[in-house]
Amino acid sequence: IICGSYPVVPCGLCSIIDKYLYSMRFSDETLHDIKCRFRRELENGLGRDTHTTATVKMLPTFVRSIPDGSEKGDFLALDLGGSNFRILRVKVTQDKKQPVQMESLVYETPEDIIHGSGTQLFDHVAECLGDFMEKQKIKDKKLPVGFTFSFPCAQTKLDEAVLVTWTKKFKVSGVEGMDVVKLLNKAIKKRGDYEADIMAVVNDTTGTMMTCGFDDQRCEVGIIIGTGTNACYMEELRHIDLVEGDEGRMCINTEWGAFGDDGSLEDLRTEFDREIDRGSLNPGKQLFEKMASGMFMGELVRLILVKMAKEGLLFEGRITPELLTKGKIETKHVSENIHNSIILTRLGVEPSQEDCVAVQHVCTIVSFRSANLIAATLGGILTRLKDNKGVARLRTTVGIDGSMYKMHPQYARRLHKTVRRLVPDSDVRFLLSESGSAKGAAMVTAVAYRLADQTRQ
Ligand code: BGC
Ligand code: MG
Repeated sequence: IICGSYPVVPCGLCSIIDKYLYSMRFSDETLHDIKCRFRRELENGLGRDTHTTATVKMLPTFVRSIPDGSEKGDFLALDLGGSNFRILRVKVTQDKKQPVQMESLVYETPEDIIHGSGTQLFDHVAECLGDFMEKQKIKDKKLPVGFTFSFPCAQTKLDEAVLVTWTKKFKVSGVEGMDVVKLLNKAIKKRGDYEADIMAVVNDTTGTMMTCGFDDQRCEVGIIIGTGTNACYMEELRHIDLVEGDEGRMCINTEWGAFGDDGSLEDLRTEFDREIDRGSLNPGKQLFEKMASGMFMGELVRLILVKMAKEGLLFEGRITPELLTKGKIETKHVSENIHNSIILTRLGVEPSQEDCVAVQHVCTIVSFRSANLIAATLGGILTRLKDNKGVARLRTTVGIDGSMYKMHPQYARRLHKTVRRLVPDSDVRFLLSESGSAKGAAMVTAVAYRLADQTRQ
C-alpha cells in the first residue's frame, strides 16, 4: 500500500515518475518502521549508558513548566538561527484582552558573518541589540533577555548553552564547545554602552512550544519544519538520566535532524540524498534534516529533474546550464510549483504541457516524502507521550512553525492525516505558532522570572 493519495493528473509521465521515484514514496508499513526506529533513538538519547553514543541527542533544556498565565514583565528576545535574525521587545501583562505586546525588528546576517569568526558574529549581535534598545529608548535599562538560539546546545541550566555543532547554513569558527551566553555577554561588555541580563537560552522548538503553550495549556510538543527541522516535548524527569530528580517534567530538545547519522536510515536514502549530503557544509551530519527540511527541497527536485532529462524522460532530453546550476531551484519554488511552473521558467527550458505536470508531480512526491518522514518521527514522540501518561487515548497539542509547514499548500494536511493514521489512539491538535519562537523565549524568561520571584518570597 502506498501512503495516502497523490493527486490524480492526466499525465502518462506521472505513472512513470511514480515508478522512477518509488523509493521516495513510503508505504504505511515503512512509516511505522521509521516511527519504531525513532522511538529507540529517543530512549538511547535519554539513557545514562547510551547517551554519549546516541545520534539523537535528547538535550535537556531546563525548561520545566509551560506558561500558566501569571507571568508578567518587560523582556527582550533575540532570535538567531532561523530564516531571519530578529530582536523583539515583549511586554507581558495581566491584561485579559491583549496579554502580550510585541515590537520587533529584523536585522541582516550577511554571509561573511555566518561563515566568519565567533567574535564577529557576537559583536554583530551585540551591535544590533544596542541599535534596537536605542530605537526603543531603553538603553539605560537592564532588561531580562531571552535568547532563541536555534542550534543544538548542551545545557546544565537555563542561562548556559554550549554549542554542540553548527547546522543549517551556519559555520562560524571558534563557537562550538563554547557557552553562547558567555560569548554574547563578553561582546556586550566590550561595547560598554548598555547592559543586558541574559536569563534564558532556548531552542526554537522550545520557543514554539512555549508560544503555543501560552494559548493552549495542553501544548507539550514543539516542532519546526523550516530551513532545518527539529522537535521538543515534555518528558518525565524520572526518565531523564542526565538530570537529577524524579518529580515533574522537563522539555527535551530531541535534535531529530541528526536521526540517521549512524547509518540507521541508509535503506531509505536515495542517490539524490547522498549527492546533496556530499556537497553540503556538514557531510554525514543531519541526514534526516537533509531529507525532510526545507533547506534542500529545491536541490532534491533539481537533481531529480537533471537525471530525468539526461535519460530523455523530460524536456525532450534538453539540458540547460540553469538546470545544472546548484541552488537554481529554491524551496519556495517547490511549494509554489504545486500551482504553477515558476521552476521551469527559471530553468530556461521550453517545457511541454506534459513536462509541466510532470515537474509538479516530482515536487509533490519530494515534499510529501518530507511530510511523511516528519509524521513518522512525530508519531514516535506521541506514542512515547501516551505511554508516559499511561492513557488509552492521547489528547495533546503540538505547537508548530517553519516555512515548509506554513507555505506549502498541501503540506500541513498531509502531515496531520499521516500522524493521525500512524497514532490512531490520539486526538492531536496542531497549533500554528502565529508569533514565532522568540515570543516563547520571552515566555521562558518570564516563567524563570516568576519562579525566581517565588523562591524569593
Ligand atoms: C537545529 C535545531 C533547530 C532546527 C530548526 C536544526 O538544524 O539543529 O536546533 O531547532 O534546525 O531551526
Ligand atoms: Mg532524572
